[in-house]
Amino acid sequence: MDTVISTAQTRDISRLERTGVHSHISGLDLNDKLEPKSPSQGMVGQLKARRAAGVIIKIIKQGKIAGRSILMAGAPGTGKTAIAMGMAQDLGQDVPFTTLSASEIFSLEMSKTEALMQAFRRSIGVRIKEETEIIEGEVVEIQVDRSAAGAGPKTGKMTLKTTDMETIYDLGQKMIDALVKEKVSAGDIIQIDKATGRITKLGRSYTRARDFDATGSNVKFVRCPEGELQQRKEVVHTVSLHEIDVINSRQQGFLALFSGDTGEIKPEVREQINQKIAEWREEGKAEIVPGVLFIDEIHMLDIECFSFLNRALEDSLAPVVIMASNRGVTRIRGTNYRSPHGVPIDFLDRLLIISTQPYSEAEINEILRIRCQEEDVEMAEDSFGVLTKVAVETSLRYAMHLISTAHLAANKRKASKVEVADINRVYSLFLDQGRSVQYLKEYQDQYLY
Ligand code: ATP
Repeated sequence: MDTVISTAQTRDISRLERTGVHSHISGLDLNDKLEPKSPSQGMVGQLKARRAAGVIIKIIKQGKIAGRSILMAGAPGTGKTAIAMGMAQDLGQDVPFTTLSASEIFSLEMSKTEALMQAFRRSIGVRIKEETEIIEGEVVEIQVDRSAAGAGPKTGKMTLKTTDMETIYDLGQKMIDALVKEKVSAGDIIQIDKATGRITKLGRSYTRARDFDATGSNVKFVRCPEGELQQRKEVVHTVSLHEIDVINSRQQGFLALFSGDTGEIKPEVREQINQKIAEWREEGKAEIVPGVLFIDEIHMLDIECFSFLNRALEDSLAPVVIMASNRGVTRIRGTNYRSPHGVPIDFLDRLLIISTQPYSEAEINEILRIRCQEEDVEMAEDSFGVLTKVAVETSLRYAMHLISTAHLAANKRKASKVEVADINRVYSLFLDQGRSVQYLKEYQDQYLY
């Protein structure tokens, strides 16, 4: 018999939301002075590392730090990935941020250095400016050049309700007049009556003239010193260097971007693209947005990858590379040498190292509370105590896994609140790493080997 799902059921299914392990992180939670925001919005403790990450963000935003690399070093579960995710959020949508687990680059489809190169170029954005047709409903920027009168430029914005150039020109002229006559100031939201030219002030957009940047669609009306009105429209797209590579390297390049099956890209193609972009930059048609590449489990890279990284970081089109490792002194893959974090000493020497420290019991308790909120789980006060103890004795990650499983156990007995008994139940059902090793030792005779 066919299964029939009612609309109510379908709606319920669509309401299910996925919460990722770092979904409670919305940034580094630091203010401008790099002090922690209070109350925390997701990040707890680890202040030194967060501040160091905050400094790196400031430098990235100033565009001063292309091709540098940072190593986040610390024990498992001390927040290395969480801090990297916080950085990504603080950098904002416009800065490319790519994450990669070092083991992902070992595949049969492409060489490991090609996979690294693609990750590098995914982390570099290219802001391309184009001139196109005007569309109804677009935001228009009006700029008045008052240099002839010895004053700075004035800027205003309006939403287009028409595509008729005559009307747009006319409205632009009226707005410019209003701006010049100081009736309205930059940032005011105004309505211009087409018939009478009357201007009504609706409010303020809080976007000061100098904050207006060239992102998104905008039309500029610039009144030149001679008094002539010019119309120019710019549309800005941001794509990654890798996307440009893919589109140019195959006939069906565009589709390859969706399937992810991009294959290897020839060095000549990249060479040509670099040249083209250099030309566009000179002509003012494109800007480079250096982003961030986060490589987790850096000890999984081998010596050839480290040589590649050493070279690739010298390139002027290199992103900031943030690496993470939870290993101490270990073997460098592909050699018989041992070194800190499994990273060759000469490479280590060029890294800025941020170390993460183990959490106190109070910090663990706070992180677990934040996770419960994030997962919508109500927990009795004494359950928090037990869960924190479990985290201290096993690991923070294991304790986090128990939140949702204990919630299921509570639901099974038709309770909405997680009690200590629910935690005990799931603690006995799911082993942590320590107990699992113990179990293996006791019963190793019964396993295949
Ligand atoms: P590993 O070395 O095993 O990869 P890690 O240092 O990258 O570990 P994370 O994965 O960042 O550790 O942390 C484990 C869990 O704890 C994640 O769910 C993370 O979001 C959370 N977490 C870690 N540190 C903090 C923190 N300071 N504030 C809030 N949540 C945190």
